[in-house]
Amino acid sequence: MEVITTRNELITHLDRNNRNGRSIGFVPTMGFLHEGHLSLVSKAKEDNDIVVMSIFVNPAQFGPGEDYEAYPRDLERDMALAKEAGVDFLFTPSAMEMYPTDGGIRILPGRQAEVLCGASRPGHFDGVLKVLLKLFNMVDPDRSYFGMKDAQQLAIIETFVRDFNLRTEIVRVPTVRESDGLAKSSRNVNLSAIERSEAPGIYKALQHGQRMVGIAAPHEIEKAMVEFITQETSGKVDYANVLSYPNLSEAIDEDSEIILACAVKFSKTRLIDNIIMSTKDDTSCSE
Ligand code: AMP
Repeated sequence: MEVITTRNELITHLDRNNRNGRSIGFVPTMGFLHEGHLSLVSKAKEDNDIVVMSIFVNPAQFGPGEDYEAYPRDLERDMALAKEAGVDFLFTPSAMEMYPTDGGIRILPGRQAEVLCGASRPGHFDGVLKVLLKLFNMVDPDRSYFGMKDAQQLAIIETFVRDFNLRTEIVRVPTVRESDGLAKSSRNVNLSAIERSEAPGIYKALQHGQRMVGIAAPHEIEKAMVEFITQETSGKVDYANVLSYPNLSEAIDEDSEIILACAVKFSKTRLIDNIIMSTKDDTSCSE
């Protein structure tokens, strides 16, 4: 595995003219790797000749008072895990390397960013799209891999790539969970022991909501999920919503897919999770 820290090195190594027809699969991350990230790598390895992973805690997607400083980091460990998983190139730029200049141009996501995390984290998805456009231009991947764990992010990225003719195919990868159902997340280490024992309640609330689909109205399902989380955890519900997926508009009966999504704030960290399901055959698509 080659570790690269500058744009120039990356472009030199991965230039389309030097690829000899080999395909590139790209896995963008913020590091502190876990099995969720590694499942993206194994899918990328299956589909491509070369796998590129980036590790960059992107300041542009954190708002004031959010956990940019407290976001867990361990580059040594990440390098060992990425190498073991078969990553060929690991790109670990500094913030200065990624954002040497700022001419003030902004990329603004549309309606899909007005709900869920976009509503509670203003500007978050602007920062996500900004870093991804830069990374896509630098890596020029054939395929890029994203987890369903961040389903809203994935939906917005799919729209971005489609509407702006970006030259990468977006591949969805299912959520990887702990044995107790908690979605794997780098942020899980910032839970206290008690919070960690309560946190699987988020997924249980989503499953509880899932069982009500087709029987109860979306607002009743949302209310039931809030009640469930409030009873099972000491966390504060940021949102619990049922929407159509991937357009993220209000759920309506004829939608073929819907998302049940929650965000819960614990003392030091905020966790998100979701279930995407078809209303037609009642099977979950997120696992
Ligand atoms: P992050 O480092 O949190 O920005 O995540 C990098 C990528 O890994 C994103 O595409 C996430 O959706 C994906 N990811 C994070 N957690 C999981 C998980 N538990 N299962 C599958 N993919 C995940």
